[in-house]
Amino acid sequence: MPQVGAIEKDTSLVIGNGSILFLYSVLLKLDTSQNIPHLYESLFPCLFFIREERSFKTGHFAKYSTLYMYESLFPCLHSGNEKVELGANWIHGVLGNPMFELAMANGLIDIVRVPKPHKVVAALEDGKQLPFPVLREIYEAYVCFLRRCEEYFLSSYSPPDGISSVGAHIALEAEIYLSSLPPEQRRVRQLIFDCLLKRETCVTGCDTMDEVDLLEMGSYDELQGGNISLPDGYSAILEPVAKHVPKNRILTKHAVTKIRWQKQKRSSVSAGSTEELESNVDGLVEVQCENGRTISAQHVVCTLPLGVLKRTAQDMFEPSLPAHKLEAIDRLMFGTVDKIFLEYDRPFLNPGVSEVMLLWDDSRLSEVERGDIGKTWFRKIYSFTKITDTLLLGWISGRAAEHMENLSTTEVAEVCTTILRRFLNDPFVPNPKNCLRTSWNSQPYTRGSYTAMAIGASQLDIRSLAQPLVREWTEEDGSKDEANRVVIAFAGEHTHSSFYSTVHGAYLTGRTAAELLLDAKPGEKQALSLSCEETSDLSSWIQGISLN
Ligand SMILES: Cc1cc2nc3c(=O)[nH]c(=O)nc-3n(C[C@H](O)[C@H](O)[C@H](O)COP(=O)(O)OP(=O)(O)OC[C@H]3O[C@@H](n4cnc5c(N)ncnc54)[C@H](O)[C@@H]3O)c2cc1C
Repeated sequence: MPQVGAIEKDTSLVIGNGSILFLYSVLLKLDTSQNIPHLYESLFPCLFFIREERSFKTGHFAKYSTLYMYESLFPCLHSGNEKVELGANWIHGVLGNPMFELAMANGLIDIVRVPKPHKVVAALEDGKQLPFPVLREIYEAYVCFLRRCEEYFLSSYSPPDGISSVGAHIALEAEIYLSSLPPEQRRVRQLIFDCLLKRETCVTGCDTMDEVDLLEMGSYDELQGGNISLPDGYSAILEPVAKHVPKNRILTKHAVTKIRWQKQKRSSVSAGSTEELESNVDGLVEVQCENGRTISAQHVVCTLPLGVLKRTAQDMFEPSLPAHKLEAIDRLMFGTVDKIFLEYDRPFLNPGVSEVMLLWDDSRLSEVERGDIGKTWFRKIYSFTKITDTLLLGWISGRAAEHMENLSTTEVAEVCTTILRRFLNDPFVPNPKNCLRTSWNSQPYTRGSYTAMAIGASQLDIRSLAQPLVREWTEEDGSKDEANRVVIAFAGEHTHSSFYSTVHGAYLTGRTAAELLLDAKPGEKQALSLSCEETSDLSSWIQGISLN
């Protein structure tokens, strides 16, 4: 996301000298599917400066500047004083995280709030609970195994023969670790490893860790300082970020269906005759929307999510995207991670417990059962965490999550109640009064949750995706002034090679894209600074560490 703090004062300068259109940027994941009482219409930090708008049908040009994007509702659920986010909740890391700086500068972080202690219990399917030292022992071993996977990225060591995924590597280490233990001790410890791996699929954004490339695991950079949550929810950051953007510059309900970015001849068949139409008149990029509107701009910054690109990239761009981009879109993974919220009338979990880990024993399933997602999807829920005394959160990923998205919330709530009764060995666990589950994969404008490194994908693919499209010079252009002009820049979490899958990754790529376009217009660059006057702008030095 670009640094929106600077938009207001500079908009006219940009408008006066050219047009920059940022398409579809948002800062936080939105799920527009939920029909819950507290829907927040939100603004998104995208810079869309269009100097000219032209109706494709009439050829008429109207001069004004507008900020466009698709409908954005930020659904969030209030429970007591808590506001829960259906998408991003944590600012991942403090040091050098521009989101943290923005939150600090705008008083969104409660620095005196002491986090409540997190007490986890690990329960078996029969309701028995494992002693905490066993859980801690396996957790510590697991963290070591994970770190070793990450080390392959920077070191010159090769993994053992035949091991190419994170899942396979951890399975091998776990097997060696457990091999000398008696069967029962081994079994329960294996269940903890299995549970932690399911949790990892939610962190990574995949179905199983067997799909995640071992050599690229370490390409994701973790910023220091832990995870920070904002008392008013992550979405609270949208207000200070978007306040500089006049509301009338934001267009919602403009789903884009076509982006014409290079002059080329195309045919239109009308009344039996074939007419040659020239698209991309005057070197402008034409953005065609589902509602029939066509918008023209000199530049477009496209932040279509990777999930949407996977489904539409072949047809969306005219001419087609270069092969290296299409291949990168194909190789990278955009998995599904969903949240399930359960709201109760009364608390029922022990006040000292904040998370119940569910140690499913999947080894007892037959091959047939394993293959039947309809019968086993819920075994992917690895824990329930207490958000408040009366609000629980479960996470689910991959194919199981995609299956869950098709079930009614009543069915999901019933299954969750059965799970809780079983693992807590308590038939009196109440039914929730509300169940809310996200549906990131079914949403046509996300088609998944976040980017992950599938086996065979690499940072090169992300760099490939991030590369702008440059307008080539043709004979018809005459003057070469327009040659090699960036017409489409790409941004979004999937275009950051080390902060992919995060809000700060999306934000930083937006800034980079904006800077790229401004670099191409040196006069305007001076006038339009991307620095944010409200922060010390530590994120500028992060560029020295790792941007794209
Ligand atoms: C469950 C969940 C939990 C998460 N937790 C965290 C977290 O704790 N911390 C963190 O840093 N990150 C988290 N993330 C990831 C974070 O939300 C994303 O990385 C970030 O929002 C990506 O921003 P983006 O701008 O790249 O894409 P998006 O936020 O997906 O924005 C893309 C925009 O494009 C629009 N669009 C799509 N198609 C079209 C079209 N055809 N026409 C017009 N507009 C279109 C969409 O409506 C959307 O507004 C989480 C994500 C999920 C799903």
